[in-house]
Parts: sequence; structure tokens; C-alpha cells
Amino acid sequence: MADLLQSIIESGPGKVVAKRVGVPEATELRRWEPGQPLLDGPALLLGEGRLRGEVDRVLRAAGAAVLETPPPGEGERLGAVVLDASGITSVDGLRELYEGFGPVLRSIGASGRALVLGTPPAAVEDVEEAVAQRALEGFTRSLGKELRKGATAQLVLVKPGAEDRIESTLRFLLSSKSAYVDGQVVQVDGGDATDPADWERPLDGQVAVVTGASRGIGEAIAEVLARDGAHVVCVDVPAQGEALTKVANRIGGSALQLDVTADDAGQTLAEHAKERHGGVDVVVHNAGITRDRTLGRMSDDEWDVLMAVNLAAPVRITDTLLDTGALNEGARVVCVSSVNGIAGQRGQANYATSKAGLIGLVQAQSPKLAPSRTINAVAPGFIETQMTAAMPLFTREAGRRLNSLNQGGQPVDVAETIAWLSSPASGGVTGQVVRVCGQMLLGA
Ligand code: NAD
Repeated sequence: MADLLQSIIESGPGKVVAKRVGVPEATELRRWEPGQPLLDGPALLLGEGRLRGEVDRVLRAAGAAVLETPPPGEGERLGAVVLDASGITSVDGLRELYEGFGPVLRSIGASGRALVLGTPPAAVEDVEEAVAQRALEGFTRSLGKELRKGATAQLVLVKPGAEDRIESTLRFLLSSKSAYVDGQVVQVDGGDATDPADWERPLDGQVAVVTGASRGIGEAIAEVLARDGAHVVCVDVPAQGEALTKVANRIGGSALQLDVTADDAGQTLAEHAKERHGGVDVVVHNAGITRDRTLGRMSDDEWDVLMAVNLAAPVRITDTLLDTGALNEGARVVCVSSVNGIAGQRGQANYATSKAGLIGLVQAQSPKLAPSRTINAVAPGFIETQMTAAMPLFTREAGRRLNSLNQGGQPVDVAETIAWLSSPASGGVTGQVVRVCGQMLLGA
């Protein structure tokens, strides 16, 4: 849909006016394409902790040039600055963050990466060390807000003993696949994980189910999982049958017309997966709807139908797939939540309830599924789809701009995040909620 304000801002005179009134210009984000190097420049590796050796190995294995001191030349742009902060045990020690990043901040190139690694505070005995590790979060989130030109900052907290589980997470967060993920904290535990033979096709030989796959974010998820090697069973309502078949044919997957709210939806999916493929390795609960209305004006139907699609269906289908044995060992389940499920939103009490409920599903199921299987949620912010194109102009423009990257994300950004969580190598990541929102200024 034509977007008037956007096209005015992006026109020559519009740019001048937008700058005057303080609308920051958005940098086109580097996004993944085949053959692209991990980083657009060398990685500077700082800090001394238990993770440094493994980070160094991963960087080199992924083809990055590693520097131990900042480049002397003014002009050289860094692809990433990675600081192993797991060795910081005191408040005084936190100075290392300031001394490490301060002088090189301006050398981080467009769509560059700042990565801080630490230890989950809950896994630390000593009080001052736990304080220091908790402090990393405030630093990293602020860094995300200070970086410019599409550069992002993330914190990875690695449980002691899970040092050899970080590769898939580092590869994702450093690469352009994480283009619209910013200011996030991800924990890596010690679940079962298998490194793929080919990092570009981690899902080779696997079967994935994606609900709501006929368009928008679901279509992008199906495409990216197929690119990564999976046979994708694309699910959507019969009314979307034609579009669904087109997507399935294009990606070499199969189409299954199914309303996820049907009483026997889980059973149908389980039988389909077992009979045709012997089971399922990846399940993405993406189908979702909005029925926006302030609470006092909301109809019974607007509450009930939304809750049935967005929350009851994922809860029930996950249960049935487990109970029937259709969810293979090593399976990955990903729920598509929303930042509005974290922060709440006027006129979306039904939607936010359902999306917060999905976070509850992830938190309740993850210990039960461990150590072989994982369940995580992604929480998209403003993503350019039919859903957001239907918003009123000014709400839409505010949604697009109010984040550290000054722009909306693309469906592929959500899809790439889901692909990382779906990888057999991501067994250490479970029970997490990863926002794909360009570090939206609203909410947590
Ligand atoms: P969309 O409306 O374009 O696509 C949703 C798909 O789900 C459609 O194909 C629809 O037919 C399908 N669907 C709906 N009810 C179904 C049912 N009962 N059974 C099977 N399929 C059903 O929406 P989208 O923008 O691509 O959103 C995808 C997901 O991402 C949703 O869960 C949404 O809540 C979430 N999300 C989107 C945004 C955004 O900015 N677009 C932000 C946060 C979260």
C-alpha cells in the first residue's frame, strides 16, 4: 500500500524537512545473501574470561579476521567489537566496558555488531560478581541506543559448562541475519545440540511445520526454513488455499489446509507428520489475528476468536504433538509472540493477553522439553506486512520510527531469527523471548 508520509520523508525536500524536525534518517540494513561474509570488516576481540578462546575459534571458523587491538588507521571500519565480560567480577571491573567500547565506537561500520558476553547472574555465587554480571545488561542496551547506521548491540549470557554451545548464537547475532534484532539479552544453557555439517543448511533432512504460512511473516518463515534445508509443511485456513499452494510449490514443501482452532487440529497435524514424514522436527506457531477494540467496546467474539487462534491453538497443538510422539527428539518449537504482549497496548487487551500467554507457554514447557527439545518465542515489533499496512497513517509512522534503527523490520528478519532458534545447533537456547523490533523504545 502506498505510504504517503514515508514517501514524503524519503523525497529530497522531505528529507531536509524531516531532518529539521528531528526525524532520524534510516540506514538501509545489511541483510543476508548467499556467499556473504559473516562481517563487513574485521572483528576486534576484547576482554579476558572463560569464553574468549571459544569466541576466537568461532569467529575464525566463520571466516572473520580477528584483531586483538584497535586498528591504527582512522579509516578502517570494524565489522564487530566482541567483549568477553565473563571475567568481570567486581564493580571496578566494569570499567573495562567503558574503556573497551568507548574509543572504538566510532570505528564500528554500518550494520556493524557489538557483542558482550557474560554469565547469567543467577548462576554466580559471589554477590559482587553477580552485581557486575547483571550490570552488563544496562550497558549493552544503552550501547544499542547509541550505535548508529544500522549497527546493533546484544548480550549473550552463557551458563558455566555451556561454553561449547555458543556457536549458532554467535553466528546469528554477528551476521546480517540478525539485522532487526537489537538490544537483546540471550541466555545459552547446556541443552543437547548438534553442529550441522553445513552451516548454510542446518535443517537438511528435517521436517518443519509453519502455521499461517500463506502470506506475510509465515510465508517468509517457510521460505527461510526451506532455504536452510527443511521440508516445510505449510499450514493455513482453507480460504487461503490458493496462496498456500503457491508458497508450498515455490519452496518445494507441502500444503496442508487446516484451521488451527479445529478440535482435531493437533491430531490431524500429528497424523500428517507421522504418516508422511515419520514426525516433525520444527514447529512454528505463527498463525495469528488481531481484533483491536478498547476493552469496554470489545465483543465476546472479538475476545474468544482471537484467544482461540493466537493462544489456545498453540498450547493444544504442542501438547498433542508431544502426546502422540509426533514431536521428534531434538525438536524445536517457536512461538510468534509480539512486543505488545510484553509492553501491553491500548485497544489490544485481547491480543496482548494472547501474546503474553505464549511467553507463558515457552516458560512452562521449556524445562519439560529439556534437554533434547527446545521452545522459544520471538516477539516482533513493527514489521512491514498487510497487518501493519492496515494501521492508521500516523500510528504506522510512529511504530516504524520509534526504535533504535529508525525503521520497520521485514518479515525475513523474523524468519531468520526463527531459523536460528530452529537449528539443531541451538540446543542451548530455550525458554527465551527474543524481540525482533530494532530495539523498540516502548516496553521491556
Ligand atoms: P497476516 O495476517 O499477514 O498472516 C497471518 C496468517 O495466519 C494468515 O495467512 C492467516 O490466514 C493465518 N491464520 C489466521 N487464522 C488461522 C487459523 N485459524 N488457522 C490457520 N491459519 C490461520 O499476519 P502477519 O503480519 O504475517 O503476522 C504473523 C504473526 O506475527 C501473527 O501471529 C502476528 O500476531 C505476529 N506479529 C506480527 C507483527 C507485525 O508487525 N506484522 C508484529 C508482532 C507480531
